[in-house]
Amino acid sequence: MFEKILIANRGEIALRIQRACRELGIKTVVVHSEADRDAKYVRLADESVCIGPAPARDSYLNMPAIISAAEVTDAEAIHPGYGFLAENADFAERVEKSGFVFIGPRPESIRLMGDKVSAKRAMIAAAVPVVPGSEGALPDDPQEIQRIAREVGYPVIIKAAGGGGGRGMRVVYTEAALLNAVTMTRSEAGAAFNNPEVYLEKFLENPRHIEIQVLADGGRNAVWLGERDCSMQRRHQKVIEEAPAPGIARRLIERIGERCAEACRKINYRGAGTFEFLYENGEFFFIEMNTRIQVEHTVTEMVTGIDLVQQQILIAAGEKFTLRQRDVIIKGHAIECRINAEDAFKFTPSPGRITSWHAPGGPGVRLDSHVYSGYVVPPNYDSMIAKLITYGDTRQQAIARMEIALSEMAVEGVQTNIPLHRELMQDARFVEGGTSIHYLEHKLSQRP
Ligand code: ADP
Repeated sequence: MFEKILIANRGEIALRIQRACRELGIKTVVVHSEADRDAKYVRLADESVCIGPAPARDSYLNMPAIISAAEVTDAEAIHPGYGFLAENADFAERVEKSGFVFIGPRPESIRLMGDKVSAKRAMIAAAVPVVPGSEGALPDDPQEIQRIAREVGYPVIIKAAGGGGGRGMRVVYTEAALLNAVTMTRSEAGAAFNNPEVYLEKFLENPRHIEIQVLADGGRNAVWLGERDCSMQRRHQKVIEEAPAPGIARRLIERIGERCAEACRKINYRGAGTFEFLYENGEFFFIEMNTRIQVEHTVTEMVTGIDLVQQQILIAAGEKFTLRQRDVIIKGHAIECRINAEDAFKFTPSPGRITSWHAPGGPGVRLDSHVYSGYVVPPNYDSMIAKLITYGDTRQQAIARMEIALSEMAVEGVQTNIPLHRELMQDARFVEGGTSIHYLEHKLSQRP
């Protein structure tokens, strides 16, 4: 087992990884920017190294600075968390070339899945159902593009092969708008992701976002750990996640889960990963794979009792993978609300000093957060300051506990989206379960 791990991330996930390490008896090195110097999780680490100024490109995206920090502290492995360099194949490669273990999949797997066109191709080869669309990247010939779109059928969505974080997508309803949309998405993708390649798929009008969590050892052993429903989204960003997904027949989930585990064996996938699907009319359609731990991994942990971050570390250390599919038993229901420092209904970020922070508690309540009274939310990064997770024997109990926890939580100094979450916990359609990915935006547009 590793003696020391470097955590190449910040905020709640840096603390989450640190907790997993401490439980396993592993020492931690936290790297941080100048903006995060005083954070408590930085102080809690066995060692900390400042890797640059506040802007992420100078610190959390600064590969040489992170690798040097691992060298000077004698860390053996690097955990990238999510975001920043977590899905950067070049980083994974540089980490391994420098003699450290990258806690994640092989660089080839990251590269394969990082390009959504090659990811879809790999899924088709592994018999995982995908959203119908262009086989591969769109060609240059305008007539050919029009022919493909007509064949797929409008509406279609143009997506960047290198896209991520809900960016680089454009929905097209008519042929008249098609070519212009392709040109615009191409140029945006070239600028944002350094890859102008785009592809086209059928735009599903009322799907749910359902994803499958997997763990695999890079060889023959792969298990799937149930599903998550992440349909409550705004601008393609998840707001609430839950496990299991309400109202979907278990045999359908089992069939798709098995396909995902088999796909992992086929590509020799190593570590934790997520297969994302759109689900409509009883069918699953693959959209992409995330080759890292995800924000919403917590709800899976609550219903399976399996610590996914510890599993990532054990797999990376080459420990024998003993988890079998029959050991994965889904019990109860878990919901996660992402608490952001932002205006609850206008969504403008609200950085600054948290003057008072009162955390909720009680049975079935988990709060993953690096924040405390006096903490300053820097303006430089993502606005998520906490993840509030509740667990219950039933979905109804998890919702009731979430309502109570949200009402107990008191944050002063910055605005938060707690009022939005409180409203959603009482929303009749949410309480019923099974809303589509468009539900939240639609609801918000109806507000006076
Ligand atoms: P990203 O990597 O940027 O998160 P995804 O491919 O995972 O991109 O898509 C993000 C979200 O965009 C999905 O959860 C869904 O809301 C929407 N989306 C993507 N593809 C489609 C599609 N074919 N039809 C309808 N909505 C889609």
